Parts: sequence; structure tokens; C-alpha cells
Amino acid sequence: MRRVLVRVDFNVPLTDGQVADDFRIQAALPTVRALLERKVGITLISHLGRPAGRPHGAFSLQPLAEVVSRHLGQPVTFVPGVPGDSTYRQAVSADPGAVLLAENLRFDPGEETNDPDFAIRLAFGHDGFVQDAFGTLHRAHASTVAITRLLPACAGPLVAAEVRALDLLLSDPRRPFGLAVGGAKMKDKLPLLRRLLPEVNTVFLGGALANTFLAASGLAVGSSLYEPAELDSAAALLESWPEVIHLPDTVVVEAAGQVDEVAVTEVSADARIMDVGERTLQAWRPIVLGLGRLFWNGPMGLYERPPFDHGTATLARTIGEMTGMSVVGGGDSLAAIRRLGLEGAVSHLSTGGGASLTYLEGEILPGLQALEER
Ligand code: ADP
Ligand code: MG
Repeated sequence: MRRVLVRVDFNVPLTDGQVADDFRIQAALPTVRALLERKVGITLISHLGRPAGRPHGAFSLQPLAEVVSRHLGQPVTFVPGVPGDSTYRQAVSADPGAVLLAENLRFDPGEETNDPDFAIRLAFGHDGFVQDAFGTLHRAHASTVAITRLLPACAGPLVAAEVRALDLLLSDPRRPFGLAVGGAKMKDKLPLLRRLLPEVNTVFLGGALANTFLAASGLAVGSSLYEPAELDSAAALLESWPEVIHLPDTVVVEAAGQVDEVAVTEVSADARIMDVGERTLQAWRPIVLGLGRLFWNGPMGLYERPPFDHGTATLARTIGEMTGMSVVGGGDSLAAIRRLGLEGAVSHLSTGGGASLTYLEGEILPGLQALEER
């Protein structure tokens, strides 16, 4: 094999045109190194942000080339333009052994429409395809589906590890099986709750999500963020799984600039629920420590604004102490784990975001199915 096309997840945060967090770049390095040891040329392809199908400077992958090069300790050539164009073809043909980083896939509208012609342009000059961007596999795009029909394709180590960990989470016999779900948007979390509630023993709810459930159980949530349109869905779940769902008993509220912990029955009209309460965290702790398996997604409060990060941080630390299997997913939950330096204390950090949730909901991921069909 001469040159391999590698789909990575380089959708990193940029601040003032610089890579603000190179976690995703670091995660891809073992894959790149393993290919380099096989003495093949590599073309790295990724999307970044939402440039909507045309070139847009703010979403250029150019600043990443230097970061990848520094980590690898060898030159990485950035290929400007649009992936698959004449500049790309020249770069691919020029030096078979070079490590290339192509420009943002989403600069071409064909990426998001799963256009076979765009995939043909991407495939030019390559003899194989490695899919290592788990977080994109829930979307049928040219770099997840169409490309697998053109080149011999396989899953990279990150995709394989992600699938293995999520399968193990669902199939491991260890019980009790727990779920901790926070964040804000019911739309994103309801399918997961509906799918896993029949399988799990315990669900802890926090964040603004819990506010909707508290309101659905007839409690006053004052001026808190919650979703009135989702009250019926929340009420239905509470009615079906009263023993399984754990709502906070105490919450941290902010009212007239004052921060207080109160019982959920005592939230005044001008109060906003910002976090789960310390008493609730103390009550949950032994249950979490006794779990055989846990999946956590979504912050327990408005964690960007201390002291309302306390619930999220405390839950993260407790999960870090578990002896059972712990899988953590979702941007905000991962950020909390990493800020506390607890990466090594959890069984698996699921970086797939929406793809991880879709997989746990039992849905087929188009990009995974495309690989399996090869
Ligand atoms: P995730 O990113 O984990 O998928 P969401 O995107 O659904 O979760 O929600 C995360 C957001 O929810 C965070 O920005 C957090 O500040 C917010 N949030 C959590 N709890 C509260 C709360 N009690 N009040 C207001 N916002 C909250
Ligand atoms: Mg979010």
C-alpha cells in the first residue's frame, strides 16, 4: 500500500485562529504513528465547524498542521483549497511518503450530501481508507459513507475502541447499571432515557433537565430554566419508572443575587435552580460507588459559572472512585473530567458526542454500517 486516506476528528476549538485544545489531535496520533511505521503516505481529512459547503477562512484546518507536525516530530504539509481539487491532486502525487493534512471537508457541499463524485475526488491517489472519526459516524457524509464504496476501508483504533467500550457498557453483566444524565436539552436526552430506562437500575437526573422533571412531578421551579413543552414526556417517564429515576432532593438556587441550598419543595418564585444540592450529592454518592456500570452524560448544573460547577465536579470525582465500569460522554462532562485530571480514573471517555448517544440508543450509525458492509 502506498498512500492511505485517514478520516480523523480534528473538529477542535479555535480561539483567534489558534488551536485552543488539542485533545482530539492527541487522540489521533497513535493511529497516524501506526501507519507511519508501515511506511505508507498519509492524507488526513476532517471537518471543522459548519462552513456550510464553501471555503471560509475561520474554519480552515491550516493552524492544525503545525500542531500535528510538532506532536509527530515530522513535517506535515497542509493542502489549501478544497479537498479533491487540483492542488490536492498535485500534493497527493508529488511525494508518496508525505503526511498531508487536507483542508476542511465541509468546504465542498458534496461532503454533507454524501456525494459520490466528491468521494471520487477525495479517493484520488489513495489505495486504502481508515475511518477513525467515531463522532461523525451518525451522519451519512461523503467521508463516512460514499468513500467506503471506493477504497478498501477499515475502522481505525479509535473507532474500534469506542465501539468496544459502548458494546461492553450495554452487554456487561455487572449490576446495578446506572445512568447519570444532566445538561439542558430534553430533545437530546429523551431518546437515551427511553431506550435505557428498561435496562438500567438507577438513573440520576441533574442540570436543567432535572428541572423539567421536577416541574413535571408538580413542584414549583420558580424562575429556573426548564422546558414546559416536555412536561408530558417527563411525567410519563416518572410514572413508568418511579423507583429507577432519582431526582435531586435539594438544589442550589440563586435568588436576588443570593446563593442557597434548599429542598426542592421550597423553591421560591424568584429563585433559579443552578445546581444539584450537596445533600443530594451525599445521598447519591454511596449508590454511585455501588454501581457495577455507569454511563454519565451532561453537567449537573450551570457548571460554567462557579460555584455552580460543584455538583458536576463532585459527581465526576465520585465516578472516578468507582470500582465498576464507568463511561463518560458528552462535551461538557468530558471537559469536567479532564479539568479535574480524572481521565485515568474512568474506564472510558466516549468522545463521540451525538454519535455515542445514537449508538447507545440502539440506532444504526450509517458510517459504521458502511464499514461493516466492506
Ligand atoms: P451536553 O453538552 O452535555 O450534551 P446540553 O448541551 O444539553 O448538555 O446542556 C449543557 C448546558 O446546560 C450547559 O451549558 C449548562 O450550563 C446548562 N445547564 C445545566 N444545568 C443548568 C441549570 N440548572 N440552569 C441553567 N443551565 C443549566
Ligand atoms: Mg451541549
